[in-house]
Amino acid sequence: MTGRRSIDAARRDRVVEAAVRAGLVGPGRPAAGLVDADGLLESVAELRRAFPPDVPVLHTFAAKAAALVPVLGLLAGTGMGCEVASPGELAQALAAGFPPERIVLDSPAKTRAELAGALALGVAVNADNLAELERIDHLRGESPSVLGLRINPQVGEGTIGAMSTASATSKFGVPLRDPGARQAVLEAFAAYPWLSRLHVHVGSQGCSLELIAAGVRAAFELAEEINAVAGYAQVTGLDIGGGLPVNFDDDEIRPSHADYVAALREGVPGLFDGGYTLVTEFGRSLTAKNGFTAAVVEYVKDVGGRRIALTHAGAHLATRTVFMPESWPLRIGVHDPGGRPKTGPSLVQDVAGPCCFAGDVVARARELPELAPGDVVVLYDTGGYYFSTPWSYNSLARPAVHAFTTRGGGVRFTEIRREQTVEEILAESGAEHAAALLPLLEAAPCR
Ligand SMILES: *Cc1c(COP(=O)(O)O)cnc(C)c1O
Repeated sequence: MTGRRSIDAARRDRVVEAAVRAGLVGPGRPAAGLVDADGLLESVAELRRAFPPDVPVLHTFAAKAAALVPVLGLLAGTGMGCEVASPGELAQALAAGFPPERIVLDSPAKTRAELAGALALGVAVNADNLAELERIDHLRGESPSVLGLRINPQVGEGTIGAMSTASATSKFGVPLRDPGARQAVLEAFAAYPWLSRLHVHVGSQGCSLELIAAGVRAAFELAEEINAVAGYAQVTGLDIGGGLPVNFDDDEIRPSHADYVAALREGVPGLFDGGYTLVTEFGRSLTAKNGFTAAVVEYVKDVGGRRIALTHAGAHLATRTVFMPESWPLRIGVHDPGGRPKTGPSLVQDVAGPCCFAGDVVARARELPELAPGDVVVLYDTGGYYFSTPWSYNSLARPAVHAFTTRGGGVRFTEIRREQTVEEILAESGAEHAAALLPLLEAAPCR
């Protein structure tokens, strides 16, 4: 086990206190997302170090894990690429400064217009299925895009079904073990000499390193077979996806990217021989532990013998945790109204959010220091897929996001996303068409 690092809990506490003192969270600012810019850069460095230096590899960042243009811009500045899966994410990646040749477009339902746009830009495209290859063949023209095909190695599910993309019936990629599918892929590579890459992404949180390695091995073996049939190295690149799971139980960063590479060396011995350019697409492993959410406690109450804190951290910021609490438990930190870590007697409490449905609880029956109005709860390990992908339930505002650095001693914050305003919420809820349905009232049966 190499390259392991732990999150510095004392530093995190210091940042929470500084954020409260700076007024980033507190009265009038119910919640904020905080991004550890130093930690993010360290994680990128650890990812780079994990791979053998003599193997050509493009590390792309899965944009959906933190779709914040300034974060993408920072990552673009490190020389990384970006993995995108929608017109919005592609626009974010371009706005962040990723050159098209370092962008990879994956998505199971690309329209003709999306494909044409990506091909014109020279963005790499991984087709999801054989029908998409036909579309690309028609649209390609003189495009410089690197073109690949996603396979589903059907190596099995991880512990979270909804996050597993290599099950027998996953919607992603060509299902390699289905009758006739392997032959169809071989024929497609023969028919389309412009295909030069295979793509596999076994899943996210919940998939073991062994399962991921088994998926990569299936892609590697298929590439060797395609090249043997072609009589030349048609497949020159393997996009091995992301999906390194994150430990949400404590502050240790495990497994590390180095553990991941060790598992690949074990499971796919030929992968690092230099025969293929590699592409990775990590998201959660780079971001989760490099961010947290801070939210104010508005009220506390006792209900049926249970203490409940009503806070501003709910399903709009922690959607997966609220709907699948067993799969996505979060650790909670408690700070006083001055931002200092709260000590003192603990109590079994629920931490509930502001959304109007009963299940809106981010932590249930958790033993925590007794919460009081004005306290600040901190949702650890939420740097990826949480505040950066808010849900607009109850028309709750997207909170501001601030990046921080502690380089040089103090804590320095930079706002990277504004809090959503009520005017913006109105605009996004059709306010400009406010009177659009009124003509229907004329001669309506209810009148
Ligand atoms: C979501 C996704 C990723 C990133 O997964 P993480 O678990 O965040 O590393 C990579 N590739 C594809 C195709 C994805 O859909």
